[in-house]
Amino acid sequence: MTKTYEGLKASTGYAIGNIYLFTREEIEIDKSTISEELKASEFEKVKDAINSYVEELSNLENPTEAQINIANAHKELLQDPYFSDTIESKIKNELKNKEQALDETIREMVEIMSALDDEYLKERASDYQDIGYQVMYKLKGIKPKDLSKLEKQSIIISKELTPSDTANMDKEAVVGFATDLGGKTSHTSIIAQTLDMPALVGMGDVSTKVAGGEKAILDGNKGILIVDPSDEELEKYESLIKEQVEKKERLKTIKDKKAITKDGKHIEVSANIGNIEDLKLAIENGCDGVGLFRTEFLYMENTNFPTEEEQFEVYKEATEMLGEKPLIIRTLDIGGDKGLDYFKFPVEENPFLGYRAIRLCLDKEDIFKTQLRALVRASAYGNLKIMIPFVVNIDELKSSIELIEEIKKDLDKEGTSYNKDLDVGIMVETSASIIMADKFIKYADFFSIGTNDLTQYTLAVDRGNENIAHMYSNYNPAVLRAIKHVIDVSHEAGKWTGMCGAFAGDTEATKLLLGLGLDEFSGSSAKIAEIKDTILKSSLSEEEEFAKKAIDQELTSDVEKMVIEHNK
Ligand code: PEP
Ligand code: MG
Repeated sequence: MTKTYEGLKASTGYAIGNIYLFTREEIEIDKSTISEELKASEFEKVKDAINSYVEELSNLENPTEAQINIANAHKELLQDPYFSDTIESKIKNELKNKEQALDETIREMVEIMSALDDEYLKERASDYQDIGYQVMYKLKGIKPKDLSKLEKQSIIISKELTPSDTANMDKEAVVGFATDLGGKTSHTSIIAQTLDMPALVGMGDVSTKVAGGEKAILDGNKGILIVDPSDEELEKYESLIKEQVEKKERLKTIKDKKAITKDGKHIEVSANIGNIEDLKLAIENGCDGVGLFRTEFLYMENTNFPTEEEQFEVYKEATEMLGEKPLIIRTLDIGGDKGLDYFKFPVEENPFLGYRAIRLCLDKEDIFKTQLRALVRASAYGNLKIMIPFVVNIDELKSSIELIEEIKKDLDKEGTSYNKDLDVGIMVETSASIIMADKFIKYADFFSIGTNDLTQYTLAVDRGNENIAHMYSNYNPAVLRAIKHVIDVSHEAGKWTGMCGAFAGDTEATKLLLGLGLDEFSGSSAKIAEIKDTILKSSLSEEEEFAKKAIDQELTSDVEKMVIEHNK
């Protein structure tokens, strides 16, 4: 009988296949204590196991991009002295044996990471879990089950899949996967998106409900797994898959085209990135540039504030990779839900409205100047632009520009080159910056709308609060009017407005945003071709008419209905 299970959408698309139930070997942990004399050799054995795992990571045969990413992430986590110090202390001070010391340390690390507010860091818990399994296998001499050789058309169902399980999976055979555990921003989900493989996570206990071998349909767009589907369902999904394949083939031919509307307006379709790996992918996907480089990851992945030189190298590499194409780098947007291990933030009632982003940077000028110097120096190598986040007062922008001017003078004295026409823009993501847009545009070279925050502040709806998630809609007419106002103000001043919030990557919204006058879209790389495709097929004047009607609505639900209808 057909059974349908629901989960979180980790990666979109459809798959039909046979279920392969993946269960991990049970690991019995030896709980005995050790004698004083064995302390040193016991710790050496754990170190050997860790080194052997690191060596394995460094010698992968023909690794894929995903495997390289995981290997680098794991090597970095294993370098954290806190990790080995904790294991050592458990062995040497508490006389725990190697297995127990490793097991307890991993559990503690997983617990610490899972308790963090930041979604990205929270998901690093699964990387620690993964490391725990891999090092424990080495300690116990177990050969792990692997997913590299499976029957064709397999849909993997498992309690969890670690990032390395996912990266090592037989891509020819696996058509999708669904797991009981896991979040949408886990490495496992990110790999599925990179592989363009439909996947579901957070399915509850589906792995205990299937036996393996059943026929199944995985619908990553709706977030469902259909086990033992009817013939009609199979037929329906076979035709959806056919359409999907045809669409992907067509989009491949579009990704490198210029996105010009039928009536001649050229729109930039760019990507948001957090590191060089993301940029490689964005370039492969045909980006016209980068609309947002979130530099905070550079700080979050470090054990101390990155030096000017360290930052310069990254910004220079990214700038050079893009050649003449624009690279918009956002200055440090830390605070709120994004903390740093090595910097003590004040305890605040409301950190999202607190000491963060440009407020912190202007207060800690040495930190800000280090980043600005690295940015101004890197501007010599291409089309780099600086973007200041979270501004609410004109003097925040003016002070930032003054610092940049001071740096330019210093560089002139040193004889160091930089781009004399370096653009400095702002993220429009607070109500104050919308209302004062006409004043900001006197000093800013461009605007980029950060809808993730703009929507939360315009509607007073916390972007991460599940209880009111239904109220968080970018289609709320108040948000659309704010967007329109900001774009109009920039155009009147002869400047341009882009969008780097997630709304820009919502392909349902492309025509509406085009009609509101947006000049640049910047979102996930995976969406570039589809956005370009829509723009190429649209006429600006028609979309302007539609957008006028949309912002004249009273209800969000009416706008949403209109948009669905209009996109058909
Ligand atoms: C935004 O607020 O829309 C944005 C792009 O920034 P972040 O999501 O990093 O806050
Ligand atoms: Mg923001």
